[in-house]
Amino acid sequence: MATKLPESPRIGMVSLGCPKNLVDSERILTKLRSDGYAMSPDYQGADIVLVNTCGFLDSAKEESLEAIGEAIAENGRVIVTGCMGKEAELIRARFPKVLAVTGAHQYEEVVGAVHDAAPMPPSPFVNLVPDAGLKLTPRHYSYLKISEGCNHRCAFCIIPSLRGDLVSRRPDAILREAEKLVEAGTKELLVISQDTSAYGVDIRKEPRMWKGQEVIPHMTDLARELGKIAPWVRLHYVYPYPHVDQVIPLMAEGLILPYLDIPFQHASPSVLRRMRRPANEAKVLERLRGWRAIAPDITIRSTFVVGFPGETEADFQYLLDWLEEAQLDRVGAFRFEPVEGASANFLPDQVPEEVKEERYARVMEKTAAISAAKLQAKIGRTLEVIIDDVGDDGATGRSQADAPEIDGEVFLRDAGHLKQGDIVRVAIEDADEHDLYGVPLA
Ligand code: SF4
Repeated sequence: MATKLPESPRIGMVSLGCPKNLVDSERILTKLRSDGYAMSPDYQGADIVLVNTCGFLDSAKEESLEAIGEAIAENGRVIVTGCMGKEAELIRARFPKVLAVTGAHQYEEVVGAVHDAAPMPPSPFVNLVPDAGLKLTPRHYSYLKISEGCNHRCAFCIIPSLRGDLVSRRPDAILREAEKLVEAGTKELLVISQDTSAYGVDIRKEPRMWKGQEVIPHMTDLARELGKIAPWVRLHYVYPYPHVDQVIPLMAEGLILPYLDIPFQHASPSVLRRMRRPANEAKVLERLRGWRAIAPDITIRSTFVVGFPGETEADFQYLLDWLEEAQLDRVGAFRFEPVEGASANFLPDQVPEEVKEERYARVMEKTAAISAAKLQAKIGRTLEVIIDDVGDDGATGRSQADAPEIDGEVFLRDAGHLKQGDIVRVAIEDADEHDLYGVPLA
C-alpha cells in the first residue's frame, strides 16, 4: 500500500526593495525549502506569507506598509522581515495581527519564526535530520554554544584573531535550540562560548520574547530560562566578573548545576598582568567563600598555565599557596607553549622547559591531593548521578560535580538495569584521586 507523505506547509514571499533584499529573500527561501517547506506563488495557497520589506526612503516604507496590509487582507498569516524590522513597533501598531517582525539579515530569526508559526509535520521519509540537529555527543548531553569570538586579548591566545570579537546569539534562538535538544533526549546542557560571562554585552539592549515574556541577553537571565528547560545545566568558561555572583542563587534553587568552570590560568597578580587576563583576581578567594556560603556543594573547576614568560619561583609559590587556600575541586594544568601568532611569544624571560616540567609536576601533585581529600569527604553521601554507559552488571556515570570528558566519573556496581541518560541517586562507597565508586539506590 502506498504511504501518503504529510503535506508540507507552503510559504508565499513578497520581496520588495533592492537586489540585496532580493538575495536575502532567496537565502531565506533556500533555507526553508531545504527544511522541507513548499512554496506558494499566490496568497491563497500559502500557509504563511513572508513580506521582505525595504525602508530606504519614505516612499519605500509606505510601499512596504501597503504590501503588509495587502498580505494581511488576502491571507492573514504574515511574517515581516527586512529593513522595516527596525520599526517593529510601528508595524505592530498598524497591523496587530502580524505573527512576527524580524530585521534585515536575521536569517536564523525569520526561519525560526516560520517554524514556530507553521511547524513541519514530522515524517520519517523527509526529516532525515532530527529537529535538534546532528550531534557528535551521546543523546543525553549536548553542548550549547551561546556566542562566538572574544573581546579580550590574552597574550597567549589567538582565538580573537581567528574568530573575531564577541558575537552573542539571540536568547530566544538559544532557548529554542535548548528546547529541541531536550525534546530529542538531552538531559544535560553544557553551555559553552569563549567567555560565557560576557554573553550579551553586544546585544544587551535587544531583549527577545520567549514564552510570552522578555528575556534579556545576559548570562543570569539565560541561565535561569535554560534551567526551566533542561534537568541539568552546566556553565563553562565563566570569568569571575562581579555579576557572576548573580548565578549562584540559581544553583542554590536547583535551577542550574552547582558547578562553575572558571579558567583562572594563574593567581599571581604580576603573571596575570603579563597574561593580560580579563578578570581581576583580587578578592576572588573572598568571593569563593561567599559562593560556598550560598551553594555549599558548588564545584569549581579551573585550568592553570605554568611556566608563562616571566613567571618567577615566587610567582609560582604564590599560585601554590593560592590553590591551597582556594581548595578548587577540579584543576587542569598546562605548561606554557608558544602558539604561532600569540604576543606572549615575544615576552622576555621565557621559562626553561625543565623548570616548566618541574612546576607542572608540583601543581599536579598539589591539586591531586586537594581533589582526593574532597572526594574522600563524599564517601557515605548520596549523590545524583547521570548515567553515561551501562555494562552487564556495572555502569559509569557522572555526579553534578563532573563534566563529561574533563572531570571524574562515578563507577557503579549492581547497575546493569539502568539506561544511558538516567539520573539516579547513588550511595557513594569509595573514592580515589579523581573518581567515585557507589551503588544506585532503589
Ligand atoms: S583566553 Fe579566552 S578570554 Fe583570553 S582572549 Fe582567548 S578566548 Fe578570550
